[in-house]
Amino acid sequence: MSGPLVCPTCGEPHPPDERFCRSCQMPLVYSASLGVQPPVSARHERARKVDPRYTEGDLVRVAGAMNQAEAEFVQGMLLEEGIPSTLRRTRGFDVPDMLAAGPRDVMVPASGFAAAREVLLQAEIVSEERPSSPPAARVLAGLLLACAIVALIAWIGTDLLG
Ligand SMILES: [Zn+2]
Repeated sequence: MSGPLVCPTCGEPHPPDERFCRSCQMPLVYSASLGVQPPVSARHERARKVDPRYTEGDLVRVAGAMNQAEAEFVQGMLLEEGIPSTLRRTRGFDVPDMLAAGPRDVMVPASGFAAAREVLLQAEIVSEERPSSPPAARVLAGLLLACAIVALIAWIGTDLLG
């Protein structure tokens, strides 16, 4: 009887208190989420697909997804090409209320980045242009501007009354 958590890349089962794979450092997933196939064959299927050339280097962001389901779709597409990937919650949206929703970053090993980029460009998942600034930075800039305006209005108000 193996643990309910498995590595999405190598298929290695882990006990429930582990968070990351001991060999690939990938965040572990519940074996049930790997699909309708029995866990053992699903694990073997996934492990067989991964191309060892694409497993080296630090994790780099290759694409963003609107939510977990979309991110998993992208992961499946990459895995078809032998590229392992992992998901990260996009910075700026890391709040408990959005555990199931919220955007995700799709991360791949550095050696698989070029191939992953190619796959996603072909599928029109990503475009050549990158957004100029992340949404969180824009929200912060807006807040700072709002504070400045409030301060200015208060200053003008006291000046006129005094
Ligand atoms: Zn692993």
